[in-house]
Amino acid sequence: GTLSVAAILAETARRKPERTAFVIGGRHVRYGELWDQTRAYAGALRDRGVGPGDRVALLVPNVPDFARTYYGVLALGAVVVPVHLLFKAEEIEYVLRDSGATLLVAAAPMLAEALPAAAAAGVPVVTVLVPDEHAAAVPAPRLEDEAGRAAPIARYASVNPLAPATILYTSGTTGRPKGAVATHLALVEQVHVTLIDAGDVRPDDVVFGGLPFFHTFGQSAVLNTCFRVGAAVLLLPRFDPDEALEQMVEHGATIFTAVPTMFLGLVQAAERSAVRPTLKYAVSGGAALPLALLEAFENAFDASVHEGYGLTETAPTVSFNHVGEPIRPGTVGRPIWGVEVAIADPDVEDRIELLGPDVLGEVVVRGHNLFKGYLGRPEATAEVVVDGWFRTGDLGTMTADDVVTIVDRKKDMIVRNGYNVYPTEIEDVMVRHPAVAQAAVFGVPDEQRGQEVHAAVVLMPGRQATAEEIVEFTSSRVAAYKFPRVVHLTETLPLGGSGKVLKRELVATYSPAPV
Ligand code: ATP
Repeated sequence: GTLSVAAILAETARRKPERTAFVIGGRHVRYGELWDQTRAYAGALRDRGVGPGDRVALLVPNVPDFARTYYGVLALGAVVVPVHLLFKAEEIEYVLRDSGATLLVAAAPMLAEALPAAAAAGVPVVTVLVPDEHAAAVPAPRLEDEAGRAAPIARYASVNPLAPATILYTSGTTGRPKGAVATHLALVEQVHVTLIDAGDVRPDDVVFGGLPFFHTFGQSAVLNTCFRVGAAVLLLPRFDPDEALEQMVEHGATIFTAVPTMFLGLVQAAERSAVRPTLKYAVSGGAALPLALLEAFENAFDASVHEGYGLTETAPTVSFNHVGEPIRPGTVGRPIWGVEVAIADPDVEDRIELLGPDVLGEVVVRGHNLFKGYLGRPEATAEVVVDGWFRTGDLGTMTADDVVTIVDRKKDMIVRNGYNVYPTEIEDVMVRHPAVAQAAVFGVPDEQRGQEVHAAVVLMPGRQATAEEIVEFTSSRVAAYKFPRVVHLTETLPLGGSGKVLKRELVATYSPAPV
């Protein structure tokens, strides 16, 4: 048989051409017109020689052109390589070379980094998002112009379900980023399973579209999921909490799917504003959601928060607090259909040694959503795919009735005086302090103890607390070996492009010697 991720847009456009795909700056883009433009973009890409199996890199923010190029590339049977929007020229060049991309589609605001990167890698660039009045001055050909001259493709290419559809680079805490290859099957199944088994997205829903589409969470859980059913995505190319709240109210958002830092932003925006959208529910993923934040959001928005767990390598959802079932706060719910989760001994490396219920170990996964491997890196792939299981690098537990709890990343665990400290547990306690908005706990090298526990803390706007008070608050609530001895008050935490706190930057900033 054959299959294509491009069907997600094409079939919805055929059945519901008049329904809204995107709302952006108050404008509605309909499924029918979006697919017609996508077919024209695909025609232009085909005329540039893009064909089945070719890799096309995309450096495009959350605008309709992301969808036009994403589904346009997929409709040719080619492979999409989304590039992190914050990447600098050298990083873009690395992705272009590593993926073997033959073309880069870059939005005009990204050209300053994209052009030198592409020149160095020897890859041609076409651009999108260029206003007509700037067309003459822009230093790269416009895809829109080429699409205007090209014959649109008639239909999408249907491909082997196990053919690669996307290559997403994991930001790589250690070593250079690695390209995780996702198949058409994994991406399509991910959407179907979410819709049938775990979530409840319907054609009349309006879904918050602030998660970046270059990342697996926004791509699968928002873009592909909404497009499969014909729901509308409310585009917010840059996430500003007050603006997001206003737009969600104005355009009737019904589902909020986001990372915890966005939940915090919305809770704070809600303190400054009396208006609220009428939400059916909210979905959190990508990082641990502190219980205090879950409760604050539920109170402010009168909507339940369903936390899920996933990774780039698993397209992404692994487990979820299914909509329509009792929520188990503090857990990431049960595995979604067709995905198996187990807990393995983290210290046994060459094989998978499964542990029993409620025993802490490494979370391992198998199922239809698994990636094909890291592009061109059989050794790195073999390190994480063992006996058919994918080792996630996360520590957690699972109950006898399949409820999964993530404790922390293996690499973020702190060992102080021989005792294991799990930062997420401490952060959860710290954000219960009334003046603390965000806390990030991390270990810095320490001659005597191996590692010392530090925390970086951002205070609530308008609230005051000293570092000593926060140390005192935490030490009276957790065991002596694990509370942070040092609290650094800071204005902001370093965030990655997908909105997660970059612990390695905190370690580097606050370590006594460079690490
Ligand atoms: P990099 O690839 O650079 O290491 P990353 O690990 O954040 O970045 P992603 O694939 O975006 O890459 O994220 C997957 C990780 O996010 C998981 O391994 C897990 O550590 C974390 N994560 C995702 N959802 C949750 C959750 N609900 N609770 C706790 N952690 C989560």
